[in-house]
Amino acid sequence: MRGLLLVVSGPSGVGKSTIIEEMLAGVRTGRECVFSVSMTTRPPREGEIEGVNYRFVTRERFQRGIENGELLEYAEYAGNYYGTPAPPVFQAMERGKCVILDIELKGVLQVKKHMPEAVTVYIRPPDWDELAKRLRGRGTENEALVVERLEIARRDFEHIGSFDYVITNGDVKTAALELANIVDS
Ligand code: 5GP
Repeated sequence: MRGLLLVVSGPSGVGKSTIIEEMLAGVRTGRECVFSVSMTTRPPREGEIEGVNYRFVTRERFQRGIENGELLEYAEYAGNYYGTPAPPVFQAMERGKCVILDIELKGVLQVKKHMPEAVTVYIRPPDWDELAKRLRGRGTENEALVVERLEIARRDFEHIGSFDYVITNGDVKTAALELANIVDS
């Protein structure tokens, strides 16, 4: 069975990582799914674990990753760099697994260009005002960064038509089931 690259994207605060975690922990899929741990220069948030949520690196280390061709894709987002280390993705795909990427739009477009067989999913909020409230309520970013993230979200939303699937995150369990259905289809 050939591997599957499942690329999940959507506005900051919409619940992408919660849906992915819920699917990985709670929904049985026809093939084994693994999460691709990105490299980032963003400092860890409270509760985030090195090597689980992200590989937290310096700008110098990230730059070296770019120069060495270690990254499948990368982008600058709200002042920090984020990128997908390529080797773990290819290794898991060679074993027939489904590899799940949680990345922003510029990264999605790079992946689609190099690997057109990748399946892309946009997670949208049921209500944009709710999203803004949730992002502020989360308290992980200061107001200027919240505003920047919301602006990026609105701009990126214009590209919703480039995605293969769209899931509305009204309820995490339902959204996780919909994501699993996409894997199985
Ligand atoms: P956060 O700082 O909230 O964890 O992530 C900010 C944004 O960066 C999110 O939209 C997330 O999907 C995206 N992101 C996380 N990892 C990567 C990556 O490896 N590459 C790209 N292009 N975006 C990423």
